[in-house]
Amino acid sequence: MEQMEKNRILPRTLYLVATPIGNLADLSPRAVKILSEVDFIAAEDTRNAQKLLSFFDIHGKELISYFEHNKRQKGEYILSRIEGGESCALITDAGTPAISDPGEDLVRLCAERHVTVTGAPGCCAAVHALSLSGLMTGRFAFEGFMSVNKGERKKRLAEIQRERRTMIFYEAPHKLQNTLSDLADCFGEDRKITLCRELTKLNEEICQTTLKDAIAIYQERAPKGEYVLILAGLDECPDTDTSEENPLLTLSPEEHLAHYEALGFAKMDAMKKAAKDRGISKSEFYRMLHKE
Ligand code: SAM
Repeated sequence: MEQMEKNRILPRTLYLVATPIGNLADLSPRAVKILSEVDFIAAEDTRNAQKLLSFFDIHGKELISYFEHNKRQKGEYILSRIEGGESCALITDAGTPAISDPGEDLVRLCAERHVTVTGAPGCCAAVHALSLSGLMTGRFAFEGFMSVNKGERKKRLAEIQRERRTMIFYEAPHKLQNTLSDLADCFGEDRKITLCRELTKLNEEICQTTLKDAIAIYQERAPKGEYVLILAGLDECPDTDTSEENPLLTLSPEEHLAHYEALGFAKMDAMKKAAKDRGISKSEFYRMLHKE
């Protein structure tokens, strides 16, 4: 009875419905029921959505497009209809909405306006790949797509160079070779990586290797299809730690301050810089200097 109650489609509710990442048989019966019974569906690509709905014999459902470049105005429209009493399902091209896909803003808007959000869970390529990777799964960090902007990419890699947890990246095939070489520069070529390609599809491939060998594989053949990269963290590969300790951290606080003063910084600025190197506040650094 409770189960039936839970399966009833509720008015004034947004349903996040996960869709298959390659194999249509992975759509759950509950997801099909929600898609059949909601008042309307918001979809990242309405043509893709139409194909999915036809496959499951769902016809005549109102589809509204909701994607990266119209999400602001469409989000408001979708919400106003939900607030007016309708139920809406949100789907993306594949996998779980709001994970490197449109949806995050809509869910946030619902939270701000006290609108109920629930959903039918299903596959998320990141978690599926992690579970297949053979690497540590206890603690992980989802990095999604790396920026295409060189500077931002470099900065991000520097930030995660000493990440202890297993890391998950999404990558498009035409950027894979570059990404593998950037990862090797940052984490060392012996770092373990599992490349998960075309999951749940005919050409599924799970390649457990190192960055060095992955680079060699893709020098021989062009990457094709969709990839999730699972990269071992420092906890799993401490011997591949390539980051060097900042030599300034071996100085005493007095020497550290003197170093920046010798470079021409005023005392306050030199303290600020030394504190930043040490990842502490200026007042903490001041206390270290005066041994308080
Ligand atoms: N929201 C989706 C999810 O829950 O997985 C992710 C959407 S994101 C725009 C698309 C990326 O997910 C692809 O570039 C790829 O990195 C990964 N991906 C999606 N389907 C995949 C598959 N079948 N095999 C491997 N990676 C996949």
